[in-house]
Amino acid sequence: DVTIGILALQGAFAEHQVMFQKVNARRRVVIVLVRTPEDLGRCDALVIPGGESTTIALLARLAGLLEPLAQFLKSKPVWGTCAGAILLSAEVENAKKGGQEVLGGVSVKIARNGWGSQVESFEAPLEVEGLRESNRPFHGIFIRAPVVLDVMPALTDAPIQVISRISSSLLPASVGPLDEDDTDPRDPRTIVALRQGKHLLTTFHPELTKDYRFHEYFVVECVLPTMAASAATA
Ligand code: GLN
Repeated sequence: DVTIGILALQGAFAEHQVMFQKVNARRRVVIVLVRTPEDLGRCDALVIPGGESTTIALLARLAGLLEPLAQFLKSKPVWGTCAGAILLSAEVENAKKGGQEVLGGVSVKIARNGWGSQVESFEAPLEVEGLRESNRPFHGIFIRAPVVLDVMPALTDAPIQVISRISSSLLPASVGPLDEDDTDPRDPRTIVALRQGKHLLTTFHPELTKDYRFHEYFVVECVLPTMAASAATA
């Protein structure tokens, strides 16, 4: 079995659960809704859902989960979607004082609600590297999404691997010009999905679609290889 935990304090955890039930990974996928350190202890990997990152962090602190979560991501894969991506980032711009704790784990700097208030939510077709049937675009749903501002020198020895960028022509005007010509396709602000070693970060919400390829990707590309590697060294 592969036991996937979904942090179930606030936000879109039930939607993730439905998606993982559809994944066929040749191993039975068992879902644990994580609300306590004991729940977390049963998991091979964790998803931190979208929602409100300050609320999730506050509830995690009240549940005594902050320290166990920080320990967990040192050895086990974590996937953060939207608010979860904020919590996985090493640094958050405009973090509310005292209200925003991050777990870190992925060496990026991110901005909350980075698309600005005029374009709080939008949808865009995404090309994602490594996804099954990768010529079929993934429907990206962005809801008050964070924006990656910077990819920082790795905090771990695992390099950052960008797996999806939004076309710069689809960026809302409120994001501002990317560079002087407004055409730089390598600008970090176009990054919407990335990996760092076993961890996965998406600024949008794959769990709000009916397309479970991202959930399959996490299990097959991030979780199973990590489990195999730790079994080999155990
Ligand atoms: N804007 C939210 C935050 O800052 C994230 C939104 C989401 O998860 N859809 O936490």
